[in-house]
Amino acid sequence: MAKYTGPACRLCRREGTKLFLKGERCTSGKCSLDKRMTPPGQHGASGKKNSGYAVQLREKQKTKRIYGLCEKQFRGYFDKADNMRGITGENMLILLETRLDNVVFRMGIASSRDQARQLVNHATITVNGKTVDIPSYLVKKGDVIAVKESKQDKTYFKGIKEAKAIGLPKWVEFDNATLTGKVVELPTREDITQPIEEHLIVELYSK
Ligand code: SF4
Repeated sequence: MAKYTGPACRLCRREGTKLFLKGERCTSGKCSLDKRMTPPGQHGASGKKNSGYAVQLREKQKTKRIYGLCEKQFRGYFDKADNMRGITGENMLILLETRLDNVVFRMGIASSRDQARQLVNHATITVNGKTVDIPSYLVKKGDVIAVKESKQDKTYFKGIKEAKAIGLPKWVEFDNATLTGKVVELPTREDITQPIEEHLIVELYSK
């Protein structure tokens, strides 16, 4: 399926929840969803009741959009999780959460996952001292993630060095002064606080 290139805020209205796709704007009071909660489209405000299938589909679409993935990529995470030991839905979320672009976002190096993906694609990020330009790279416990030294004098990164430290999930650390962070431990289901009901996605894909 082709990559969606329309307005990001429309996706939040479609899912009826904040997906945090536009960085600072999402928490600035300029969020479109705060102004208009109805789904997009001519019949958006009609209040149609969703069937069981539609609820499962919406949950999958929401999660896919939070992590900015296309259907094929997203399904790949489900299949991988399904072949792992443990609970498939939880495994899938943990795999998604340990993608390098997500970790860069979580550390506060980028204000959205989209921006994080660009930084990784542009060979700005190192893992354990080596440049990694693959956003889907899965981090491991103990990995050291940093902004490449040769890129650290760019205005954007100087801004992060001077910014106040943000609240981080407990499984990562980040030092603004050196633009270096560490994956202290792999995330657990409890660390993923977005409102995702992964059992609905498992039910959808298991039909
Ligand atoms: Fe979604 Fe952010 Fe747009 Fe709000 S500002 S609707 S959270 S993308």
